[in-house]
Amino acid sequence: MSRKAFIAANWKMYKTPGQAKAFVDAFLPLVAGHDRDEIALFPSPVLLPTVIEAARGSNVSVGAQNIHFAEEGAYTGETSVGQLLAVGGTHTLIGHSERRQYFAETDAIVNKKLHTALKHGVIPVVCIGEVLAEREAGKTEEVLKTQIAGAFAGITAEAAAPIFIAYEPVWAIGTGRTATPEMAVEAHIIIRAEVAKLLGAKVAAAMRILYGGSVKPDNATALISEEEIDGALVGGASLKPDSFTAIVKY
Ligand code: PEP
Repeated sequence: MSRKAFIAANWKMYKTPGQAKAFVDAFLPLVAGHDRDEIALFPSPVLLPTVIEAARGSNVSVGAQNIHFAEEGAYTGETSVGQLLAVGGTHTLIGHSERRQYFAETDAIVNKKLHTALKHGVIPVVCIGEVLAEREAGKTEEVLKTQIAGAFAGITAEAAAPIFIAYEPVWAIGTGRTATPEMAVEAHIIIRAEVAKLLGAKVAAAMRILYGGSVKPDNATALISEEEIDGALVGGASLKPDSFTAIVKY
């Protein structure tokens, strides 16, 4: 089955509104008319209105790096799906490894966020991946299966269609150390098989599984042209229009 690649920029906690607008103004002409792949930007919440306004009417979607699982409430510092939708955001990352590492996000929290996103029609990108010690202990498969089972608890095959998974080996994020295409493909096959087990072969065959972890212009082609790799989630190399464009046009 051919799946349209999805190339996404995770800007993490970088850029001011002025810098974000300058990025979009420079980036849109570079990718104008590019419809081979879907393109999305994931800026910090405070940048969302600026980036959404600047990208309006273009081929670039905009989403949040995180949402809260509650619809609203006394959750200081958090962003709800309703707030995201109200400013025009369409997607959200869920369970990025930096959220898991620094903000104690567990598979159970990821699961609650996934339910909330799907309920409100926000397109979720569920991030999973093993840390170095787990890979070195031969536990990658077990970790991925546990994360998928945890994230997808209670999600039906009917509801699952919009979900993306991003396989992001934690040891490759922001380290310059990339998984080889073979390593990424091996993990993606495990992930797709697990999704098939939980949600059926049809959902698994259609689900787009992205690779993330030090994707750069010079390794993007080798990774994304693999049949099993349906796009990329890009951190550091997405911060400059030229470098992110080179990845989009792998
Ligand atoms: C990420 O933030 O999801 C990521 C993969 O970062 P980097 O590309 O910098 O490794």
